[in-house]
Amino acid sequence: MTDARRTPRVLSGIATTGTLHIGNYVGALSMWADEQDRYDNYFMIADLHALTIPENVQPDALRSRIREALALYVACGLDPSRSAIFRQSEVSAHATLAWILGCLTPVGWLERMTQYKSKSSTVTASAGLFTYPALQAADILLYQADFVPVGDDQRQHIEITRDIAQRFNHLFGEVFTLPESLIRKSGARIMGLDDPSIKMSKSLAGTRDGHAIGLLDPPDKIRRTVMRAVTDSGSKINPEQLSPGLNNLLVLFETLTGLSREVVLTKFAGQGYGVLKRELADVAIEKVGTVQARYRELREDDATLDAISAEGANKAKSVANATLQAAMCATGLR
Ligand code: ATP
Ligand code: MG
Repeated sequence: MTDARRTPRVLSGIATTGTLHIGNYVGALSMWADEQDRYDNYFMIADLHALTIPENVQPDALRSRIREALALYVACGLDPSRSAIFRQSEVSAHATLAWILGCLTPVGWLERMTQYKSKSSTVTASAGLFTYPALQAADILLYQADFVPVGDDQRQHIEITRDIAQRFNHLFGEVFTLPESLIRKSGARIMGLDDPSIKMSKSLAGTRDGHAIGLLDPPDKIRRTVMRAVTDSGSKINPEQLSPGLNNLLVLFETLTGLSREVVLTKFAGQGYGVLKRELADVAIEKVGTVQARYRELREDDATLDAISAEGANKAKSVANATLQAAMCATGLR
């Protein structure tokens, strides 16, 4: 179904499971914003995905997080005139196609998902947590997305989406475009500042102080988090021997400034760890400060936020409903 003449399309989203952090910004949002002119853009607020661990759902907090995410998407540079920005739950085709795709997804494929294994080890796993990849496949396939810009942790989810699409196309006829992930070379996996062996994540940021730089953190908190970041027992930066913690700080500095790895290593070689941390804190505070200034303006303007999400949902529905119809025709439901 790929139309060679159309502008390549991208679809991506972030689950509303907590406040966005600098890893979401570097690995996903900044890339979406920077590349908007190259693609036909669809960015969803993945609110249905926020229900997979019901123990963590507080209805009022979820409601406010959805608006927070909408304002943060725009504050991070998504431009509603170039990108459809919408809530997943407003486009009912996502849930319908997820059911159809879930029916043709072998359980063995779902059991192999590393995210399911790690998330289900800490809670009573729900059926939704287990079948989440079928919903994510529906999210992507409904838009016939050519590319899915994501962080490195989502690689396996894009692969299973391709497998599910292929299985559908094989069983019922060619309906879906096979998507490819777009993953940046540096910054695709920002590690926790309190523990550089684990990925920075929203769910951990909510319970562990010092884990993440939150996009809504005040400057003093950002500085404290960076200055306390776990490195190693050394004291001076040796580019030949970078521990995971130090490397993580350098990757953050590099991606937030846009400087190359060589320039950053030359700049900091032989310097004390404190110098890097101070400069990184300055850069992060400035970047996050710019986002927050725009965010605050938007939060005072509910009408604009509502209009952005309504317009985005309309645009999304017209594409998603057409694909859903094609899938329903192919399966005999229509
Ligand atoms: P959760 O803890 O709820 O899984 P998360 O921080 O992992 O939250 P997701 O909603 O799962 O965030 O992912 C949103 C996007 O941000 C995805 O494209 C994901 O790959 C990217 N992303 C998440 N964490 C990082 C990170 N530490 N570094 C780079 N990209 C990331
Ligand atoms: Mg995640």
